[in-house]
Parts: sequence; C-alpha cells; structure tokens
Amino acid sequence: YSHFVDVGRLEMICGPMFSGKSEELIRRLKRTILAGMPTIIFTPNIDNRYAEDHICSHDGKKLEAISISHIEEILDYVKDDTTVIGIDEVQFLDGEIVSVIMKLVNSGKRVVCAGLDKDFKAESFGQMPELLALADDVTKLTAICMCCGRPANFTQRLIAGKPASYNDPLILIGASESYEARCRLCYQIDR
Ligand code: ADP
Ligand code: ZN
Repeated sequence: YSHFVDVGRLEMICGPMFSGKSEELIRRLKRTILAGMPTIIFTPNIDNRYAEDHICSHDGKKLEAISISHIEEILDYVKDDTTVIGIDEVQFLDGEIVSVIMKLVNSGKRVVCAGLDKDFKAESFGQMPELLALADDVTKLTAICMCCGRPANFTQRLIAGKPASYNDPLILIGASESYEARCRLCYQIDR
C-alpha cells in the first residue's frame, strides 16, 4: 500500500442550468482550499467583453478564478505543486479540452469540472460526452422544472418568452434570451 502517492482524478459535475453545478463546484473547492491544498480555478471568458475574476453560483456564492478563452492557457498557471484544478462552464472552452485535462489528471492532479451536459437543443454539449466517459466520478444534478415542479434535466432557451428555434446558434451573445430549467414534458424547441 502506498497511501500518499498523488493519483490523478477527474470529477465531472453536470446537469441543466440552475441545477447547482457551480454551487457544488464551489463547495468542493472551498474544502480543498480550507485543507491547504494548492487549488486553482478557471472560468471561460465567453464573450471577451470583460474578464471574470470569480466563479459565481445563481444564489450568489463566489470563489476567485482566472478567466481564460482556450483550455491550453491553463498550462501557463498550473504549477508542479498545484494539486486541485477547478473549471466552471467547461463546455464553453475551445481547444483540446480532453487531452489537456487528461494530461493534468495523468500527472497526478485532481481536476473538478462543472458543465452543461446538454445544450438548449437537448443534444450533448461539445466535448462533454468524452469527459463524462473518462471521468472517475460523475455527479449529474437536476433542477426543478419551472413549469410543473418535476425534477428538471433540460435547459429551456426562450427568445422574447417563446421557445427558441432549433437552428439558433449554440452561444448567443447580447440577445434578449432567457433560460429556464424544465422537465422532459415541459421542454420545448421550435423545429
Ligand atoms: P448551475 O451552475 O447549475 O447553473 P447554480 O449553482 O449557479 O446552478 O445555481 C443553483 C441555484 O439556482 C439554486 O441553489 C437555486 O438557488 C437557484 N435556482 C433558480 N432557479 C432554479 C430552479 N428552477 N431549480 C433549482 N434551483 C434554482
Ligand atoms: Zn415540467
């Protein structure tokens, strides 16, 4: 037995919007920070308008984070003594997400990622399926359906209050869109 060798680990936290992914990520990382484990947190700089310097849950919990556009930028910040790496909204990052993350895991780091498993079309989001397959641990959260109160696995995009179109782009910036958590019965897409 060798209890104290750094065995890397990938933890994925997924689910629809409002399911508490950021809350859960923040909860896990606050514990590693309190335990004195060198922890670095990243968040995608989605629209490049301003650099976010924290990750934030919908109910206002926050942790300091580094804003990046491409996954490769992580490698500039992670040092040999870094043991825990957190990434929020991982589905939005460009680049070789899977190979960069697995490189860190294989070098003994604990990587904890939160991200949407499905996009607004209810299809799997980008490289999330591969990350979920490679993960050592997957937590799939549900929200509460805003229409009926059932457990919600879907992210409903609304444009001016109406269900979005299937042909809309995946990432809308500055549009008058809003999102709700919905169950399979209440989720709608305009085809
Ligand atoms: P995510 O990262 O998955 O989008 P957050 O961690 O940012 O979720 O926010 C979760 C919080 O959102 C909940 O604790 C609750 O306060 C709030 N919330 C708002 N709408 C809903 C909903 N429909 N179902 C569950 N929680 C909701
Ligand atoms: Zn419902």
